[in-house]
Amino acid sequence: MDRLALVVPCYNEEAVLEISAKELKRVLEDLIGKEKIAKDSFILFVNDGSKDRTWELIEKEYQASSLVYGLKLAGNVGHQFALTAGLLAAKDLCDIAVSIDADLQDDTAVIEEMVDLYHEGKDIVYGVRNDRKKDSWFKRTTAQGFYKVMAAMGVKTVYNHADFRLMSKRALEYFSKFEETNLFLRGMVPLIGYETDCVYYERKERVAGESKYPLKKMLSLAWNGITSFSVKPISLITGLGVLIIILSICAAIYAFLSYFFGTVEPGWTSLILSIWFLGGVQLIAIGMIGQYIGKIYIEVKHRPRYNVETLLTHEKE
Ligand code: UDP
Ligand code: MG
Repeated sequence: MDRLALVVPCYNEEAVLEISAKELKRVLEDLIGKEKIAKDSFILFVNDGSKDRTWELIEKEYQASSLVYGLKLAGNVGHQFALTAGLLAAKDLCDIAVSIDADLQDDTAVIEEMVDLYHEGKDIVYGVRNDRKKDSWFKRTTAQGFYKVMAAMGVKTVYNHADFRLMSKRALEYFSKFEETNLFLRGMVPLIGYETDCVYYERKERVAGESKYPLKKMLSLAWNGITSFSVKPISLITGLGVLIIILSICAAIYAFLSYFFGTVEPGWTSLILSIWFLGGVQLIAIGMIGQYIGKIYIEVKHRPRYNVETLLTHEKE
């Protein structure tokens, strides 16, 4: 029978940890009872350098239940890295991994559907939100805009899918070969291949605690997603440059004609405006290219992506 690992990144989640541990244990016990997964399936809580009591609570859950494992990272590395750390640690211990947020916004009821699809031969099953009524207007609009921009930039992602997904052992095996530091899991997982499927669910409100994804982190995730997967912004800049050159040729023809017919106006407004405008465009272009060079710089250093401090398991030697 296949061993399932539920991988849960946690950053300052003391408010929800006990509730989600209870719920996730219930889900595992239910699936074990139905003989869909092995008895030694487990939940792996990844503590992403929390500043509150999250790790203490994880240790407590670990001592109380053989279903709970814990992974402690030495500092806060962010959701994408924490999740990767958890998936790669789980890879050697499990046959299937499902990643889910600690706040239970994703519907645990569809985990069973995911497992069923896995048994039908799917290697990756995406959890897709079929509505976002529970998200704030702002979050909904920005998130959906993001998926559209990604698509326009030619990055393959699954619409309305975040990081709630099932991956088989061989999908994880292949995923572990991605060594990049600029992580954007939603863009990387579709590159694995194999047969995939989706399950649909309604996104709920956070059980407790606050979002750990403020606007700044959301924007940086979106920006990282685009620039790690697409060089289209650079070609857009090139296109803009060509357009401006065409415009300036038209302006030159116009100026020449009006000089010829003696209608030229004295004035520097147009001159100054165009200098400023072009200066701005050039700065954006340089900045844009700089972003990519910065990314190359970070990749080239080949630093370790996270530091595992402790791994608590109930593995038998
Ligand atoms: N998270 C993390 N490290 C961070 C920020 C968030 O591990 O630096 C975890 C967090 O504990 C949660 C998940 O990532 O389990 C998603 O975060 P959150 O629910 O706050 O994001 P939202 O649902 O508001 O987008
Ligand atoms: Mg959340």
